[in-house]
Order: sequence, then C-alpha cells, then structure tokens
Amino acid sequence: MTGQRAAYAADPQRSRGRRIAEPPAPTRSEFQRDRDRIIHSTAFRRLVYKTQVFLNHEGDLFRTRLTHSLEVAQLGRSIARSLGLDEDLVEAVALAHDLGHTPFGHAGQDVLNDCMRGHGGFEHNLQSLRVVDRLEQRYPSFDGLNLCFETREGILKHCSRSHAELIDAAEPGGVASRFLFGGQPSLEAQLCNLADEVAYNAHDVDDGVRSGLIELEQLLEVELVREHWEATLAQHPGLNGKRLLFETIRRLLSAQVYDIIDATRAALQQATPADADAVRAASQPLVRFSSDMRSKSTALKRFLFANLYRHPQVQATRARADQVLRDLFVAYSSDPRQMPADFADRDDLMRACSDYIAGMTDRFAIREHQRLTGKSLFPL
Ligand code: MG
Repeated sequence: MTGQRAAYAADPQRSRGRRIAEPPAPTRSEFQRDRDRIIHSTAFRRLVYKTQVFLNHEGDLFRTRLTHSLEVAQLGRSIARSLGLDEDLVEAVALAHDLGHTPFGHAGQDVLNDCMRGHGGFEHNLQSLRVVDRLEQRYPSFDGLNLCFETREGILKHCSRSHAELIDAAEPGGVASRFLFGGQPSLEAQLCNLADEVAYNAHDVDDGVRSGLIELEQLLEVELVREHWEATLAQHPGLNGKRLLFETIRRLLSAQVYDIIDATRAALQQATPADADAVRAASQPLVRFSSDMRSKSTALKRFLFANLYRHPQVQATRARADQVLRDLFVAYSSDPRQMPADFADRDDLMRACSDYIAGMTDRFAIREHQRLTGKSLFPL
C-alpha cells in the first residue's frame, strides 16, 4: 500500500484470513505476502511460456500470459493508487488471475472442458483457484499457497453455479458464495477485472498489427482507435509507422485509465460504501467505465473478436492446439503412468489428467505430444 488508504479499500489488517492460520510476517502486509508467494510459485514462472493469443514460436515480442499479467498489474496499481485502494492486493490478484490458464490460450480451456464433460468440466478461473489452493506444493504443512480470502476472492472472478455450490459446501460463506447469493468482490478485485480487459484490448491491437493479421487502416473503423490516432496526428503531423501506433495505444490506454478513475469516483461518491464489506453488499460493481467508454471499449472488443481472434490463421493454430490437448488427454487417461507419479497416483484420474495438462507450457505440451504420438504439429 503506497498511497492513502480509503475507508472502502481492502485492509490487510482486517483480512478474513488464510484457510490455515499463520503468524503475521514481521515487515510485510498480508497482501504483500500473498503477492510474494505468487511470484515465487512454479505456476507463475510457467506463464512466460503460455500463449496469450500468439504462440511463443510465432515471435519473441508477442504478449505471453506473463507479460499480460504484468500489464494488468501495472494498470491496476496505477488506478488503485488514485482511488486509495490497496495496491498490494491489486497486484497479487493481477499476477495470479491467469495462473489457471491452459497452454495455447482460450483454445485449451474449451478442449479441457470438453474432455472433462461428465467429470466436473473445466473453467480457467476455477483452475487458477485450484493452483493457489492445492496444486502448488512447496510449503511443509499445507498444499497450495494458503493465500488470504481477499486474494482468493479476486482470483475466482467467474464461476458456474454448480461449481459454486461445491466450493461453498466445502467453504460455507467463502469465496464462491457471491455466485450463489449475489454480492460483489472487493474494489481491488473489481479493478483487476476491468484492468484485464483494458490490457488485452490494447495489447491485442499492438500484437495484431505486429503479426500482420490486422491492417492499420482496418483499425480506424474503431472509434476508440480513430480518435486517438487523429489526436496524435494533429499534435505530431507526419508521424507514421510504429511510433504513430504506439502513441495511439498509449493515449487510448491513458484515456481508459482516467475514465475508470473518474467514473469509479463518481460511483463511490454516490454509493458511499463505509468499508470493504459495504462494497461487497452492493448490488453492482462500483469500479467501472463511463457509459460512453463502455460502449467504445465494447466496439474495440468486437473488432478484435471478428478480425483477430477469428482470423483464419489464428483459427488454424487453434485447431492444431486442440488436437495436441485432446491427444494428450486420451494418452494420459488411458495410460496414467505416462504422467509423473504425483498425478498418476491420484484417485481422481480424470481431474489429475486435466490438472497436469492445464499446468503445461505450450512447448512442454508440444514435446509431450510428440513423445506420445510421434506426431509433430508445431515447430519447437
Ligand atoms: Mg487475463
């Protein structure tokens, strides 16, 4: 926490605590400590080799899950400081929010969900929580990272009703209860959610152009891009190429950051939540865009969906990624000994296969696929 803490901010001294009680750290707040545990986790290091949109071997400069998470943390902290929120909690949630992502981006989540049909399905947010609650094994007396309620609450961004029922049965009134009974997460968690969206919209424009899949002229259809493009050219006539694109993205990021700060301040002034629990009891999220920025952001998202995520070249990669993960699931579930013993020996074989595959980096999945099938669907 660097700035002045507002009354509605999450307060590490009033945390709902860890699932297993631990003595406080002498110099760090509980949320700082969570952030540190996340950075030192194995799952965090794997993010560097996990796809955001473009696969690792497609180029060194594309975002990975790691650089994406760092960008979310940067945007989140910057807004948090202006609003008097707890920066450490924002950073912890931002760095952990994608820990449960499968290799190969969103393709992987759909395949695993399909393979796990009838066995509880697969959701990446839930998997992020599984990683920090169970799958990391590095402490002598507990599984997982034993994070604070507030960090776990932020990580479980979405959750289906059936999964929420299961989690809530094991942890009554805990992190899944708002998906059953309504309510909001902390402002810090709400902020990470929105910062995630701001980050990927902006960096996917950059990566989309870098990859050659999106033409600059096409982008000018999008109001949010066009207005900052024109403003950049008005101030710097003759600017072109990368500098024009980067300055446009820089301005559209700033505009969204300031918009969130202003719209959220106004919402907070109206709702006047007395503390973090009053935020949780609110009927709507209070961290938000203005309605004008919301519609501009949605238009950009639609553009990216149609022109980048659905681009034939991205779809072709996705089809091969699907194949790799499906083949791996079949190989491990029919011959569990192909997995390390701590997965092969588990009683819940299907979930063990899903956990093992979800944890893989892109290149490890490609190598395993080659080893088990003899097929080589991607260059290494
Ligand atoms: Mg994300």
